[in-house]
Amino acid sequence: MAKKPLVSYASYEVTLIVIETSMNKLLTVIVILAVVCFSCAESPTAAVSQKNTGLASAEQPAISVTNYTNDTTIRYPVPLIRGALADANATSVKVINTSSNRSTREMEGLAHEGNFKVLTELVGGSNKLIIRAGRDELGLTLNYKPQTNPYVVRVFYLTDKTGNTEYQTPIENDLQDYRGKLDTAMKLMQTFNAERMNDMGFGRVTFNLEFDADGRVKVHKLRTDDGADRYHRMDGLKLWSYSGRLISRRLGHPKAKDLVIPAFTRFDPNTGKAYAHTALGGGTLALFGGGNLFTWPSSLADAQKTFMDTRIIDTKKFFSDSVGRHTFWATASTTIGAALHELGHTFGMPHSRNRHDIMTRGFDRFNRVFTLIEPPHARRKGSYEFKENEIAFWAGPSAAWLKFNRWFALDEKDYCERNKTTITMERDSGNILVTSAHGIGGIILADKEHAYAHIPIDYNQPAPLRVDVPVARYRKYLAGERPAIRVIDTQGLSTVVTLRELMPRSFVRSWRFSPLTVPWDNPKCFVPVDSKRLRVIAASAASARLSKSETAYVDFLTHYPPERHRNVVAYALRTFTSDKAREVRIFTGSDDALRVWLNGKLVTQVLALRSVRIDSESNSAQIRAGENTLIVEVSQGAGGWGLYLRIEDQKGDDLALTEDGKVVTIEMPFLKTNPVDSGN
Ligand SMILES: [Zn+2]
Repeated sequence: MAKKPLVSYASYEVTLIVIETSMNKLLTVIVILAVVCFSCAESPTAAVSQKNTGLASAEQPAISVTNYTNDTTIRYPVPLIRGALADANATSVKVINTSSNRSTREMEGLAHEGNFKVLTELVGGSNKLIIRAGRDELGLTLNYKPQTNPYVVRVFYLTDKTGNTEYQTPIENDLQDYRGKLDTAMKLMQTFNAERMNDMGFGRVTFNLEFDADGRVKVHKLRTDDGADRYHRMDGLKLWSYSGRLISRRLGHPKAKDLVIPAFTRFDPNTGKAYAHTALGGGTLALFGGGNLFTWPSSLADAQKTFMDTRIIDTKKFFSDSVGRHTFWATASTTIGAALHELGHTFGMPHSRNRHDIMTRGFDRFNRVFTLIEPPHARRKGSYEFKENEIAFWAGPSAAWLKFNRWFALDEKDYCERNKTTITMERDSGNILVTSAHGIGGIILADKEHAYAHIPIDYNQPAPLRVDVPVARYRKYLAGERPAIRVIDTQGLSTVVTLRELMPRSFVRSWRFSPLTVPWDNPKCFVPVDSKRLRVIAASAASARLSKSETAYVDFLTHYPPERHRNVVAYALRTFTSDKAREVRIFTGSDDALRVWLNGKLVTQVLALRSVRIDSESNSAQIRAGENTLIVEVSQGAGGWGLYLRIEDQKGDDLALTEDGKVVTIEMPFLKTNPVDSGN
């Protein structure tokens, strides 16, 4: 195998690369394979509590906290405290952290119709908080134990060679406090994760950030080598690769996922285009344009105010990435939420189907976690009383993926790097059997582009070593293009197997391997094969025994001695009979280059150094009545060496070859249903 990495800098295996267009359409460009990660089991902690010290009626305390019990310990500095007030007319609350001398000691929060949400910032250790509403007060102690997780999320502010940090802004005398904005946004994302994972029953898990001694998130200013012009000419993928290489060279970190925000993103009112604005995440790097930084809060004290800010952006002059809502609040919500979405891709997550999930356009509703009512916007006159289930979150499949992600582990751990997960299909029962000696952390049902559902796991119990997935029950989620099972173990290691691979009988697995091999000196061209040579190859293979592969994948390495495992070309032959002439499509995937001849006619050729994948390409061909001869040539550079090959008829039904070489139509029912719209 000769992998062609999309990025050469990634110190972790590049796993998932997803490009978004200007945020209106989510477009998956390439999904390779997912690696990922771990966290310790923390039991769900959502609980109601109150210790009312103020004036209150007998029925309802003046102030009650609904999402924290007294003396709770959390692993991130900014809790979002939610609760209820007896006074339904109150519009604000205050929280005073009497243990802190920072500027965030006193913070104001929102109240609406008897509910409140307020942020506070904790210092290490015990924090005595006072929540105040009118003349009422409630004491609450929260402990902050900083994470020890060495897997960390970093934030970079990318400037051109001049080092100019100014972002585009319509605000007069904008303080251009990019450090404050990035510090605040990263903390909000961290808090969002913990709160919403907890709401879903996954515990208050979230990623670690780099904090300085004052508790501020380190913002790495990264000065590039060229003028902004050059970066404005780059497309998103180029800028992403460029930023990745730069970070790797100057500040490479084997355990970091990085968010990069370019300062030089510019909206051109004449063309209506935004330059160096992109939304892209995968491997170790998430990139999101800085064109709307001017809407982001500069401090925690401003965070909730920002999400209530109804100022309208003049879209003739300035960028507004807000799905047409064009207010400051909506733009801040969409763009901070989208940055988190891109980080989601770096954690190995695909898009999902739940419209409130961060891994869909749910990120537009990032604001709702921190607010109680949504203000008007350009397309809506009134405020909107959103429901609990309309708040952005990590939907089931995403949360199940994050729970054991190493970046959500909270503490340093010794990981085992050996993947011990197996995924098999019991042909008779129709069960997919997942086993892992490390314990199974999450099972997600997905297709090429989307995660649909997850199999519930009780996180209060030790991680299961075996889980049976009854295909009949989950059939509607095992559909779409390339349905697959994604498993993450308790070590944060992931395994992805497509449903097709679990049902190998539709693949041509029995071949006669020719003893003839030839060197492959130049991977830029195939070795010459004319019709005479093809006859020689066929004759040499015809006398070899028929070897059957147990799996869908036909591994050439097992058929040739080790000294012929590099820079070599080899051939395999299969003859079969058909009762009639048929138009077919031949689906192939190979490692590396591939040619396929059917009855002497070349039907497939792919000259590439590539990793193997099922159904990389398909080509039409003619099977004739009577005997047919299929010859494959797989040219090998180095590493893995093998082939997937299967055949469909014109209707799209699978054709298989029986042991005695007859073409038959087979039922593959699980691969023929359409996907549903939303998972759990
Ligand atoms: Zn995406």
